[in-house]
Amino acid sequence: MAFDREHPHSFAARLNADLRDAPPQRVLEAAWAVYGDKLALVSSFGAESAVLLHIAAQITRKIPVLFLDTGMLFGQTLDYRRQLAERLGLTDVRDLRPKFADLALKDPASNLWKTSTDACCDIRKVRPLDEALGGFEAWITGRKRFHGGDRLHLPVVEEAGSQVKFNPLANWSKAELDAYAAKHELPAHPLVANGFPSIGCWPCTKPVEAGADVRAGRWQGQEKTECGIHVARAPGRETSMGEGI
Ligand code: SF4
Repeated sequence: MAFDREHPHSFAARLNADLRDAPPQRVLEAAWAVYGDKLALVSSFGAESAVLLHIAAQITRKIPVLFLDTGMLFGQTLDYRRQLAERLGLTDVRDLRPKFADLALKDPASNLWKTSTDACCDIRKVRPLDEALGGFEAWITGRKRFHGGDRLHLPVVEEAGSQVKFNPLANWSKAELDAYAAKHELPAHPLVANGFPSIGCWPCTKPVEAGADVRAGRWQGQEKTECGIHVARAPGRETSMGEGI
C-alpha cells in the first residue's frame, strides 16, 4: 500500500476506506505494516482488554503498550496488568504515571476527583498519555461502537491531530468479543464477575445491574462519559481514554 503519511487526515480516510469492514486482525496487521515501531497500543487492562492485546501479541509481542497507572486504579487491575502481560508475552508494557509536580500542585490530597473529575483526568490520564504518545505516529485503541454514546459512529481508522488512530474492534459486538476470549481461553478481569462491565479508577467506577449500558458505571451521576484522551485538546494533538480508557 502506498500512502502519504505526511498528511494524517487524508491518509486516515484512505486507510479507513480500505479497512472499515476488515476483521481486527487485518486492521492490526495493516497498522503494524505501515507504522512499525512508530505504533503504540493504549490499553486500560480493563474488562475487555484481553482480546485486543491477544490479537496484537499474535502479530508482535514487542509492540509498545501504554498503560495509564493513574494512582487511583483498583488493586485487581494492577494484578491483572502484570498477569495478562506475562501470559501474552508482551515485552514492552509501559506504565504511565502522573507527574509528581502536577499532583503536588493540583491534587496534594488525592481528592481532586471529588470536585473536578475533568481536572483529575487531565493530570492523571490526559497529560501522561499526551507526553508518551509524542514519540509515535499512530496508536491503537480498544473502543467499540456497541459501547454507545460518542462511540456509536466510531470509524476503524481516524485522524487524531497529527497522528492516526486505529480502532480495530469498532465493528465487533459483545458476543464476538466473548467468543474470541472463550476460544483463546483469555483470563477475565476479576471485577467483571462482580458486576463491573467497564473498569476505570475506583472513585469513578461502580458496578451496574445486568443488562445496563456497558459504561453506565463510569462517572455515575455526572454528564461526563469519557476521560478526555479521545478529545482534541490542542492543535496537532488529540487526547481523552477509551474501554478504553
Ligand atoms: Fe481521577 Fe476519576 Fe479521572 Fe481517575 S477517572 S483520573 S479518579 S477523575
